[in-house]
Amino acid sequence: MPKLYFRYGAMGSSKSANALMVRYNYAERGQKVHLLKPRTDTRDGERVIFSRIGISAPCEYVDEFIEFAEANWHTREDALDCAAVIIDEAQFMTPSQVDYMAHIVDDLYVPVICYGLRTDFQQKLFPGALRLFELADVIEQVPTVCWCGARAQCNARIKDGHIVREGEQVFLGGNESYISLCRRHFLQGLIAPPAE
Ligand SMILES: [Zn+2]
Repeated sequence: MPKLYFRYGAMGSSKSANALMVRYNYAERGQKVHLLKPRTDTRDGERVIFSRIGISAPCEYVDEFIEFAEANWHTREDALDCAAVIIDEAQFMTPSQVDYMAHIVDDLYVPVICYGLRTDFQQKLFPGALRLFELADVIEQVPTVCWCGARAQCNARIKDGHIVREGEQVFLGGNESYISLCRRHFLQGLIAPPAE
């Protein structure tokens, strides 16, 4: 049975690179996938998914894909040539878009693999991530580490070397505005080792 996957991680946990690798693995076997990102993520430009390690691939927007699927995929047979749907920045999907992805899995038998952040800069769930936690069949963490070596799960928004704790949930200021920290160092506000 196909499944709805949510692979979540903090900033810098190579989620985009993982999404691009999974796409590559399918392509290598001659299988077609739909690679998507939500339209709100304009940080990296139009219809392209970039990883900071230097790889990228063209993608569609989630809303465009849903429009396509609604128009063309009525039965399982219609979607037979699609091996998977892969979504980056999935935390920016709306809850109803996540519900639609569950329909893709359940009724059209296409696996949907979502990569995204769990929480925002205040460590609150993004609405899309919340819905994915509620619905996903498989939930996996993509690990990354804090400067101290502990598992990083907090996304700190940084301005002038300090953690910003108030503001809008979505702030597309680029990856340089964020750092991933363990919970202890997020709460302490220590974004780097203290000077000796
Ligand atoms: Zn730490």
